[in-house]
Amino acid sequence: MSGAERDPKDQEPQMTTPAGTADPIDHEALRERYREERDKRIRPDGNDQYLEPVGQFAYLVEDPYTEVVERDPLSDEVEIALIGGGFSGLCTGARLRQAGIDNFRIIEGGGDFGGVWYWNRYPGAMCDTAAMVYLPLLEETGHRPSMKYVFAPEIFEHGKRIADQFDLHRDVLFSTQVTKLEWNEDASRWIVHTNRGDAIRAKFVAMGTGPLHRPKLPGIPGIESFAGQSFHTARWDYDYTGGTPEGAPMEKLKDKRVGIIGTGATAVQCIGPLARDAKELFVFQRTPSSIDVRNNHEIDPAFFAQLEPGWQEKWLFNFATLQTGGFADEDLVKDGWTDISQRIRDRIVQKVGKEGVNFTNEVAVQAYEDSDDEKMTEIRERVDALVEDPETAQLLKPWYRQLCKRPCFHDEYLQAYNEPGTHLIDTDGKGVERIDETGVWVGGQHYELDCLVWASGFEFGTDYGRRCGYETVGRNGLTLSEHWADGMLTLHGMHVHGFPNLFIIGMSQAANLISNITHNLTEAGSTLAKVLGHAIETGAEQVEASEEAEQEWAALITSSTRAFLGNPDCTPGYYNNEGKPAGRREQLNGSGYPEGPVAFFEFIDKWRNSGRFEGLEFRK
Ligand code: NDP
Repeated sequence: MSGAERDPKDQEPQMTTPAGTADPIDHEALRERYREERDKRIRPDGNDQYLEPVGQFAYLVEDPYTEVVERDPLSDEVEIALIGGGFSGLCTGARLRQAGIDNFRIIEGGGDFGGVWYWNRYPGAMCDTAAMVYLPLLEETGHRPSMKYVFAPEIFEHGKRIADQFDLHRDVLFSTQVTKLEWNEDASRWIVHTNRGDAIRAKFVAMGTGPLHRPKLPGIPGIESFAGQSFHTARWDYDYTGGTPEGAPMEKLKDKRVGIIGTGATAVQCIGPLARDAKELFVFQRTPSSIDVRNNHEIDPAFFAQLEPGWQEKWLFNFATLQTGGFADEDLVKDGWTDISQRIRDRIVQKVGKEGVNFTNEVAVQAYEDSDDEKMTEIRERVDALVEDPETAQLLKPWYRQLCKRPCFHDEYLQAYNEPGTHLIDTDGKGVERIDETGVWVGGQHYELDCLVWASGFEFGTDYGRRCGYETVGRNGLTLSEHWADGMLTLHGMHVHGFPNLFIIGMSQAANLISNITHNLTEAGSTLAKVLGHAIETGAEQVEASEEAEQEWAALITSSTRAFLGNPDCTPGYYNNEGKPAGRREQLNGSGYPEGPVAFFEFIDKWRNSGRFEGLEFRK
C-alpha cells in the first residue's frame, strides 16, 4: 500500500503507550471497581424502565421540520417497496438502480431522505466514524468529505446527493409512515398500509427502518408533570432555542435554565453548544461516557484527488479488518476505533512473535483485557487533564470496558464543564429521582428548569414491531414480533421463513459492524440487487428462506462469542441487554456472524455471486 493512500495529517501517533512497556495498572483493583459500578446500575426492570413516546408524549416524535402536504391515498401496485429513506433505502435504491432494477418506490416517514440524519439535527450533531468510510458511495458521487469527521448537515446533504445521483426522488413517498405490512398469499403480494390511508400492493418489500429509530423516554416518576418546554434530541426545537443545525448560537437560551437528561453519544455532542449558549445548564448523569481523542481535521483536496479508483472499498475493508481485530499492512483511517485493536494486535505479536508464547484463546483474551485497561486508564487521565474542577473530573470518569457502551470521541465535550454556568449533577448510577412541574430532583435537591432536553436514546431490544413502528403480518397471519418472540430468526439477517418476498436491510445476524453502520447497508443493498435480479430474471413469484436454512443460521449465530452480552465487567446499557443475563433471545438479537464482519462480507459476496442462493427457495 503506498503511503499516499493515507491522509498525511493522520501520520502523527495518537496517545498510545507502546505495548510491552512497564505496566503500572492494578488490573484486579480495576475489575473490582468495574463490578461495583456495574452493580449500582443493575435494575430489575431492564428495558422496561423506558417509556414509549405515545399518549401525552406523542408530540415528542412529530416532525418539526416539514409540513405535511395533503394527498389522496394510493392503492396502486409497485414491484418493490423500500421502507425507509435513510441510508438503508438510499444505499439499496442506489444498488438496485446500478443493477438496472427500476420499478421501486421508497416510502419514508420524514419529509426528506436522510433517516437518522433527517431527524437528528441537534446542535453539534456529527458522526464519529470517519467520513471517508461512513459516507456511502463517495466514489460514485465524487463527494470529498470536508473533514475527517463531518457534521450532520453535510451527512444529510450527502443523503440527498445519493438520491439525486440515482434518481431516487422518482416515485418516492415522504411524510408517510407505514402502519402495517400484510402478506396476501392468494395474490402473492404485500399490502403496505400507511398513516395516509394508502394500501399499496408490492411484490417485494425491503425494510430499512434502522436499529435505533424510535426515541424513548426514561420512566422517571413525575415525568408527565413537567410544565416547562421539553423535547427529545431527535426532534430539536429550534423555534424555542434559536440557532440552527449549522451551528448558529441558540440566542433564545441566554436567559434560560436548561436541563439535559442523559450523557450518551448524543448528549456528548450537544452539551458543548448548550453550555456555550444557555444561561445555566444542568447535566443529569447516570453513567459517564468514555470520551476518547477525536483529532478532527480537514480532508486535503490534493490528497483526495490522488486516491485511485476503488479506494473506498479498500478503506472500508481496511477499517472493518482493523476495527475487529484483524491484521493489515497499514491503518488507513487511524482513529480511536482502530487504536484499541491495534494495541491488542501489538500485544499478541509481542507475546507470540517475540516471547515465543503459543497463541491460545487465553493469550488473546489477556491481550484484550490489558489493552482495554490501558486505554480506559488513559481516557480517565484525559478527564483530569481537561476538566478544571477535580471533583467534577472524578465524576466524569467511566469505570467499565470501552466497548460496554458506545465509545465516544470528542475534543470539546469535557471542557464544557469548565464553563461557569454548567453544572454536572451526578446521580451515582441511580438516575434522576423524580420530576415535578418546575424541574428535576436528585439526591433530595430540586433543580428548577425552563427547559428539559431528553437525550435518553432510542429503543433497542424491544419487540421488532414496536421498534419499527408497525407490524409485519406474514403467511397464515403470523406477525414478525410473534415469529421473533424468542429471538430473531433469519437467513443472513435478511430473509425470513414465513415472510416471502420480504427483505430486512440491516446488520443484525449478519456483519453486525457497529462501528460503521453504512458499510453493512451498502453490502446488504448489493445482496438484495442480486437476489431480486435473479427472481426477476427467472420469473419467480416468491422468494423465501427455507425453514431448515433459517434454523441452521440461528445455530451458527448462537455459536458466536463476539457479543458483550452478560459480561460481568460491563455496566448496563443497550449494548448488553441493560445488564440483564443474556439468553438465547438476546444472543439471536445481538450477535452477528461468528467469524466477524469481514468474514461475513466475504462469505455473502461469494454466496450472492455463486448464482445458487443456497437456503433460498425461488417459486414460480
Ligand atoms: P443512549 O441510549 O446512548 O444514552 C441515553 C442516556 O440517557 C444515557 O446516558 C443513560 O444513562 C441516560 N438515562 C436513561 N435513563 C436515565 C435516567 N432515569 N436518569 C438519568 N439518565 C438516564 O442514547 P444516545 O442518543 O446518546 O445515543 C444512541 C446511539 O445513537 C448511540 O449509541 C450511537 O449508536 C448513536 N449515535 C451515534 C453518533 C455518531 O457519532 N455516529 C452520535 C450520537 C449517537 P445510562 O448510560 O446509565 O443508561
